[in-house]
Amino acid sequence: MSATGFDVCVSGSGAVAMSLTLALSAEGWRVAWARSPEATSPAKADVRTYALNARAITLLERLRVWPALKAFSSPVFEMKICGDGGGALSFSAWQQQVTELAWIVDAAALERLLGEALRFAPRVEIVPPLQGAQAPVKAALLAICEGKHSGTRADLGVEFARQDYGHWGVATRLKAERPHNGVARQWFRSPDILALLPFNQPDPDASYGLVWSVPKERAEHLLSLNTADFELELNDAVLQSAPEAAEQIGHLSVASEVAGWPLALAQADRWMGPGWVLLGDAAHQVHPLAGQGLNLGLADVDTLVTVLREARQREPWRTLGDERTLRRYARRRETPTRAMAGLTDGLLHLFADQRGPLKDLRNAGMTLVERLGPVKHWLVGRALDA
Ligand SMILES: Cc1cc2nc3c(=O)[nH]c(=O)nc-3n(C[C@H](O)[C@H](O)[C@H](O)COP(=O)(O)OP(=O)(O)OC[C@H]3O[C@@H](n4cnc5c(N)ncnc54)[C@H](O)[C@@H]3O)c2cc1C
Repeated sequence: MSATGFDVCVSGSGAVAMSLTLALSAEGWRVAWARSPEATSPAKADVRTYALNARAITLLERLRVWPALKAFSSPVFEMKICGDGGGALSFSAWQQQVTELAWIVDAAALERLLGEALRFAPRVEIVPPLQGAQAPVKAALLAICEGKHSGTRADLGVEFARQDYGHWGVATRLKAERPHNGVARQWFRSPDILALLPFNQPDPDASYGLVWSVPKERAEHLLSLNTADFELELNDAVLQSAPEAAEQIGHLSVASEVAGWPLALAQADRWMGPGWVLLGDAAHQVHPLAGQGLNLGLADVDTLVTVLREARQREPWRTLGDERTLRRYARRRETPTRAMAGLTDGLLHLFADQRGPLKDLRNAGMTLVERLGPVKHWLVGRALDA
């Protein structure tokens, strides 16, 4: 296969690179997958759980990964969001007339099952990682899915303006005393944001994925604690945020390692050029408060494959790396990505401000949105289809 060249070379080792490789192979293209050798045996299992939206799940269904992944996933039927001064917002699947609002997915299982599916994918060859921006094989298109620290993006001279939030996302798996009933909870505690995502492992119906976004110094402190002290601080934070909810959840105990990720907002100044394109975190990074980073990346995959398929049908004379085709992809993805980045960034700044009038206003705003059915419906619609 290498002698004749490939249609696409996909560079990257995460969920976006693997989904793209599978999707291109299913469309009949010959794909060289340039992954890093460490990808097959990560030093530590990823303790994160991802909230994935309907569009992401539909893509994973088409890639035939979802039937196996569903066993490592839990549906969200209700979402309760609380402000720091009485403001509250809730969404439910039945109100929105959908089966579930999102699925909480085991991050490590997602990557493992995508990797297993790739072992059986036709027309896919694993090739060595790129040297500079040079693909190790001849391919019409280079798809760069190398995550936020992409070296190839830098080699191509693409700017990735990064605004460091000075916050870290602290994540772990939790066991609860009482069943979660498919309810996801999030508290804007100013300055931290605490989210409990209902999950079915290790305890069926009584586990959570934790994402606790806290200032860097607090994260360093939390990461240095032993399990008992971490549990103490976490249960105390839940109790302070919402005594009623703390009663419904019961005591939370840690069920995995605790890990942290620095959080930032970033967007590439160019998403494509002649023969190359960016996808996933290599193109954009958002705060995880809305659980949208990977959803955006999987929507990039879906859109790129659709644009390439349409070009093959309507303009078969164009090569896969044709700039006009790739510009269509960039145009379709840049606007929704900027909108989501703006929404998460705006919420973060709104809740970062400790001044009294703003605190009252944001909490009143939440309660107002709660009462405005069409606005709530619109917000859920955007989140389901990043
Ligand atoms: C705490 C936290 C919680 C989150 N929760 C959610 C959530 O609930 N929902 C959601 O949608 N998103 C969530 N996200 C965001 C999500 O983790 C990312 O958006 C997603 O992992 C991006 O996937 P990716 O494949 O683009 O990049 P990555 O996951 O970073 O994968 C890129 C991979 O490519 C490798 N690589 C780099 N250079 C090369 C090279 N030259 N050759 C080969 N490989 C290379 C990297 O080492 C890496 O393994 C969360 C993020 C954090 C930090």
